[in-house]
Parts: sequence; C-alpha cells; structure tokens
Amino acid sequence: MGIPVKATCSECLTTHFTELQFGQENIKCLVCGHSMKNLPEGELNQMDQTLKSQKMNQIVALVAFVVALGAAIYWTLGQPATPTEPKDDIVAPALACVGVLVSIIFGALGSRRRFIIEF
Ligand SMILES: [Zn+2]
Repeated sequence: MGIPVKATCSECLTTHFTELQFGQENIKCLVCGHSMKNLPEGELNQMDQTLKSQKMNQIVALVAFVVALGAAIYWTLGQPATPTEPKDDIVAPALACVGVLVSIIFGALGSRRRFIIEF
C-alpha cells in the first residue's frame, strides 16, 4: 500500500499521479526517466499517518451524513398529511441539523491535504 502523491519532474516538468512505496529506492519520471532518491522512511510514515487520519475523518463525515439523512426522513414521514398541526418533535430535526454540520466539518478535515512532490 503506497502513499498517493502528485509528482512533478524538475527536468521535463511533467506532472503525474503516483504512489510512493515504503522501501522503494527511487522516484522516477515516467516520461524522461529522471529519478531522485525516495523520501526518508520517517517522512513517508508521517504522510501515511496524515492520510489515515484523513480517512477516519471521511468515515465520520459519511456516518454523520447518513444519520442526518435518516433523521430528516424520519421527521418528514412523521408529519401529518395536512399541515394544520405540525408534530412537535424537536429531536429529529435537531439531529439532522447537527449531523449535517458534523458532516461538513469532518468532510473538510478529511479532504484538505494532498501531497505534491517535485523531484
Ligand atoms: Zn521527466
């Protein structure tokens, strides 16, 4: 399992998407063959940790969104057909709103970092 990065070659300026593997010797340009030594293990570990925590945030965002959606549907279906007397239920709409907010926050946290390298 590698670390997805956007890599730009300093020789031919080609940008390509690649994965840096642990234990991989060199980063190599697919077009001109220019290569550079791979990043140190510690740096790869740090990038890996960052991506893992982002993935966790994405999962939390998705779960929160599903909960919000469920609460919204539950609340909508619970309303009487004729809107003369709306049901007095504050929990479901509140849960939907909170779920959407949590989803937005964690979604942003889960998607803010991409790794770009130039070699
Ligand atoms: Zn190149």
